[in-house]
Amino acid sequence: AKSGARGSFRFFEPELDRQLQARRSLERDMRSALAHGEFELHYQPFIHVVSGETCGFEALLRWNHPERGRVSPADFIPLAEETGLIVPLGEWVLMTACAEAAKWPDDLKIAVNLSPVQFRSPELVPVVMRALANAGIASHRLELEVTETAIIHDSETVFAVLAQLHALGVRIALDDFGTGYSSLSFLQKFPFDKVKIDRSFVSELSGASDESRRIARAVVRFAVSLGKTTTAEGVETREQLDILRADACVEVQGFHFSPPVQGARVAQMIGERAPA
Ligand code: C2E
Ligand code: CA
Ligand code: CA
Ligand code: CA
Repeated sequence: AKSGARGSFRFFEPELDRQLQARRSLERDMRSALAHGEFELHYQPFIHVVSGETCGFEALLRWNHPERGRVSPADFIPLAEETGLIVPLGEWVLMTACAEAAKWPDDLKIAVNLSPVQFRSPELVPVVMRALANAGIASHRLELEVTETAIIHDSETVFAVLAQLHALGVRIALDDFGTGYSSLSFLQKFPFDKVKIDRSFVSELSGASDESRRIARAVVRFAVSLGKTTTAEGVETREQLDILRADACVEVQGFHFSPPVQGARVAQMIGERAPA
């Protein structure tokens, strides 16, 4: 294909067309998936470092496609965002996650990921209120995860919406911390309760290179110094946990503790908890 600009142009045109077709077919399938109940939520616990207690669970979207099999959220969420389907899909996630959390003890939180696109819908705040009311759970049990990049795009609007949600008592978490471009003033301005340190730094804590280990540790310390609750994502080893504990990270989440699991398994895990 490296035969100069003209040659590659002729080569890529049918390829682009093929990609467009594939996207259209995925988009069609996604619309029917919502109607046919092919989406499912899995739940991954986050754990208090000092006590070892589970603080709550993060809802993560799964799509069981009849022919394609399991489609990863990394593959379908960007397309759902482009097509606007993330708005009804995100509403379904909020409703379902809150209803599931209603079955758990009151001290467990439910964390839900929000797409930046959902902030452009005037329905977001009413939908959150409806999800809480339908499930009958207290607003402080709901934690909404928002990425830095989401906020930076339209920070005025997002700020106003986050302030409304926060006033309801809903907790706000800054997701994927360290991967965006937040300035200090930005971090001080937004009403965050929690900072989630991105997995890329957590995995570097026990990485091969001295320099990247130092940088990762500096990111952890910076997050902790903001004075919010900190959660380290993607903790896979005991060594990572030990470093995070030494640096006073508050909560941890990752395969070292549990992968995301089905709702029924959460009920089991809760049943296995030592009685208070
Ligand atoms: P995220 O919010 O950063 O979620 C963490 C991802 O890391 C999840 O991938 C989780 O399964 C995975 N993970 C957790 N622990 C470990 C670990 O120890 N090691 C490794 N290697 N991975 C770990 P998942 O479920 O594939 O989700 C990917 C992304 O898709 C999420 O990243 C989030 O941005 C998005 N997403 C998932 N569900 C939703 C949703 O309901 N709404 C929206 N808007 N986005 C969602
Ligand atoms: Ca998240
Ligand atoms: Ca994350
Ligand atoms: Ca991530």
